[in-house]
Amino acid sequence: MTLKIYNSLSRAKEDFVPIDPNHIKMYVCGPTVYSYAHIGNARPPIVFDTLKRVLSHLYPKVTHVANITDIEDKIIEAAKKAGEPISIITEKYTDIYNQDMASLGVSKPTIQPKATDHVEGMIAMIETLITNNNAYEKDGHVLFHVPSYDDYGHLSGRNREDQIAGARVEVAPYKRDPADFILWKPSTDDQPGWDSPWGRGRPGWHIECSVMAKAFLGDVFDIHGGGIDLTFPHHENEIAQSCCANDGGQFARYWVHNGFVTVEGEKMSKSIGNVLLVHDLIRDGMKGEAIRLAMLSTHYRQPFDWTANLLDQSKKTLDKWYRIINDTSQNDDVDDTVLSALSDDLNTPLALSHLHDIAKNRPEFLKSSATLFGVLNHSYDEWFEIMTIDAGHIDDLIAQRNQARADKDFAKADQIRDQLKDMAIDIHDGPDGTSWTKL
Ligand SMILES: [Zn+2]
Repeated sequence: MTLKIYNSLSRAKEDFVPIDPNHIKMYVCGPTVYSYAHIGNARPPIVFDTLKRVLSHLYPKVTHVANITDIEDKIIEAAKKAGEPISIITEKYTDIYNQDMASLGVSKPTIQPKATDHVEGMIAMIETLITNNNAYEKDGHVLFHVPSYDDYGHLSGRNREDQIAGARVEVAPYKRDPADFILWKPSTDDQPGWDSPWGRGRPGWHIECSVMAKAFLGDVFDIHGGGIDLTFPHHENEIAQSCCANDGGQFARYWVHNGFVTVEGEKMSKSIGNVLLVHDLIRDGMKGEAIRLAMLSTHYRQPFDWTANLLDQSKKTLDKWYRIINDTSQNDDVDDTVLSALSDDLNTPLALSHLHDIAKNRPEFLKSSATLFGVLNHSYDEWFEIMTIDAGHIDDLIAQRNQARADKDFAKADQIRDQLKDMAIDIHDGPDGTSWTKL
């Protein structure tokens, strides 16, 4: 079966032709870790995890890299506000992010590099860009000179005026051209920084992805993914940096973008108060797989509208499916109808209608086929929360949490408390120690 995928570069659905059919390489932009992920943030991990499942079914090996951005101005601000070093903030929210994504059935990327581990590579790439006359240094800043790269704007289809308007131009005396963007900037003494040929400073956001993709996937690789909102400027800038710094002037072959998320027909915003955090939804008892199934009921390139009704329907579908797989013996084969729908530019709405048909008429194929969707990963008892409480295990986790608190490892302590919460165990800290109750 041939995979077809919509390539944002050509604005067309193309046959996917891998560079090496024995090893597929995919990079997806990951989160900036300074707060909780909302459902909009969860869409790319769900979409690209689903694509990875399809690729893994069609090809023998898939390497999926998704980064953690753990140095960025928003993180610095959040750390300042909390009065904590940035590493405390980034480690805490990386752990929470990974737990939240796991609850959505998102498998961990093959490699999840942290930007701060790759600053040396970023400095090296910036030096190459300066040598190649694509970048320049001014007042401790290094900027990419956009007019030096002819193909700039190709991915997003933006002309020069749009680029300048879209670059959110601040009047900056160090810019030669209004569209130029930051590769490196100086840090004050109270900001995190690294020594560089241009003084103590820190990287811009865009260069992080170019360097981490190169480090793990090489100069040229198959698929680069992310949300549609990243097309400009982030992905445009990644392409400019990588094509100008890499030998051969190439980068990712296929650019795949998922659409926006709205809530009950409205854009999510703090002022409306409709920002839904994955962490809160799960804590309040929503099933991660129901969130995933709901999102996949819309094609990834279309806007996804979150509605309470859709979530309710998805939960009911899964309840029904869990009962079916509990009542019928399951085989290991994926039904062809599901695979062929998913192979056609990840047509999840069509694949979902096939799953409904399978549940009704060929139930022995349901579990394996649903695996490509990343649902039905639990046992019947887990799904319906038929639990036997292992008190010894709970006491053990509480002891570990108290030790973590004594060690001031609050991220770990929080993680254990969340783990207990996932087991529907509520803990209470009192003068006589910690006690627990079943929720
Ligand atoms: Zn990126």
